[in-house]
Amino acid sequence: MNKKRILALMLCAALSISAFGVEFKEGTYVGEAKGYRGEVKVEVKTSKNKIEEVKVIKNTDTPIISESAAKKVPEQIVKYQSLRVDGVSGATGTSRALTSAVRNALKNSGADLKELNKKPVIEAKKLVKETQNKDVVVIGAGGAGLVAAIEAKNNGAKNVIVLEKMAFAGGNTLISGGEYAAPNNWVQVKKGLKDSNDAFYNDILKGGDNEGDPKLVRVLADNALSGAEWLKDYINMTFEDRQMFFGGHSVERSLVPQGATGVEMISKLLAKAEELNIPVLYETPATELIVDKGRVTGVKAVSEDKEYTFLAKDGVILATGGFGSNLEMRVKYNKDVDENILSTNTVGITGDGITMAEKIGAQLEDMPFIQTYPTCDPISGALLYFGDVRLVGGSILVNQEGKRFVEELERRDVISMAIKNQTGNAAYQFCDEAQVKLSGVAEHHADEVNYLFNNKLLVKADTIKEAADFFGIDATELEKTVAKYNQYAKDGKDLEFNKRGKLTPFEAKGPFYIMKAVPAVHHTMGGIKIDENARVINTKGEVIKGLYGAGEVTGDIHGTNRLGSDAIADITVFGRIAGQNVVKDNK
Ligand code: ADP
Repeated sequence: MNKKRILALMLCAALSISAFGVEFKEGTYVGEAKGYRGEVKVEVKTSKNKIEEVKVIKNTDTPIISESAAKKVPEQIVKYQSLRVDGVSGATGTSRALTSAVRNALKNSGADLKELNKKPVIEAKKLVKETQNKDVVVIGAGGAGLVAAIEAKNNGAKNVIVLEKMAFAGGNTLISGGEYAAPNNWVQVKKGLKDSNDAFYNDILKGGDNEGDPKLVRVLADNALSGAEWLKDYINMTFEDRQMFFGGHSVERSLVPQGATGVEMISKLLAKAEELNIPVLYETPATELIVDKGRVTGVKAVSEDKEYTFLAKDGVILATGGFGSNLEMRVKYNKDVDENILSTNTVGITGDGITMAEKIGAQLEDMPFIQTYPTCDPISGALLYFGDVRLVGGSILVNQEGKRFVEELERRDVISMAIKNQTGNAAYQFCDEAQVKLSGVAEHHADEVNYLFNNKLLVKADTIKEAADFFGIDATELEKTVAKYNQYAKDGKDLEFNKRGKLTPFEAKGPFYIMKAVPAVHHTMGGIKIDENARVINTKGEVIKGLYGAGEVTGDIHGTNRLGSDAIADITVFGRIAGQNVVKDNK
């Protein structure tokens, strides 16, 4: 070993990282790579023997999630002088793209890329113990948690903190469509649509086979509109001037946030939290609830270098979401939702809050009720927004044999199970250009559309036959199916599946589209039992003092099946109630 390399090794050992004497031509290099959905571009500055700086100059991947990677990956590369860094859990697509872009940039630097690809040896750090005194500790920086934290602060809690397991906020809320069911909302009023809290209440209960707790459903139905107005007027969320009609609702009542994803809600909630000086501690998962004489008095949590005890004078709010990404827990409660079913959830959604609460005696409800979303990515399980063409009534679902097999606006669970029973456990969504335009998906979700084309999951063709042949679907049958559907549309009645809403015939001329999709776990209806004040209930039916719950972590609201766009209303309504009561109960 030469002297230089020994010196480098010694220096890096002192910094507790591995070392290599890589040499570079001093300069600034630019590299690009394909991200999860979009593109990333980096600028890398090198001195003679070091990567001095990595700057991300373009990032069109999913906002918030990819931004966490864009911050952390360059830091890791510079710190460890390696391209084999861990990246950000939950943002692996962007993390990988960033290291590829740096690698591409360094191709012109004369560096030994093989050396740079070696994994650094990182010594485990000794955790330092730290105790902090708070008024309110919120666990989880998804929709429910951020809403609860803001309300707690505005109701008088001076010292509020949010603990987040991942490197980014948002959870499932962020990657959802973000639609919000609100009876009597402003778009309905403008369109002259009649609706009522009672109609919404009945739809939620009926949609969940009457398994939801009517008292909780009542709270949700009666407060959904004020929650939406609070988001619009206080949180400054922008909503589009349109609505969506989700299966199981008796009337069109679902507001659409700007961009038709959860990004608008999470970014505006984060901005408000910052304005109110509410810190969010990232990569700090809560591990345990602290109980003293029957009251929850705090939370234990860990970060890369600390073992925290957060004492909560007023209380703790659990907002950790569901357990869709926890295969073991899923199968424990429902054997059908096994490893063959992918998940739309972010990786942090592993039921931590449910487990922590159960350990201290909380009552769990409805745990076997796990919802699958019908039209997801057969590769990653991500929810596919191109599927929204179905929600505007503009597509049919067919199987490999070219035949329809379910009412396209049926409940998610019914459609999902129907798809699971088809050849290859997959469905093909057929539509024409006019319906794609009407749904706005190509415009709002351009990255996804590109991704689908690139991965051969979506085809656009001039004829039905050409589109069918792309996926090996029986073309003659599909032509017959389309002709039959067009006749039903003309007659105003779907004689086979009784599809609800207005039927529009497909155009005689192409282009036509077919998307391949599979069902994936989307929402876990089960969770901890709360009362109408968002206070967690124990197995004896008593309130657990100091503990509140909101959002997907709770159960017994949506019954066997949550209707589309009801979750955002739920997290807002109960997030607000939890935030208000954690303070009020202690006055
Ligand atoms: P909801 O829709 O109920 O708000 P989300 O899925 O949007 O639920 O958000 C839940 C959030 O909780 C996610 O950001 C997730 O990473 C976070 N989370 C999950 N488990 C923990 C934990 N143990 N500690 C801190 N945060 C957690």
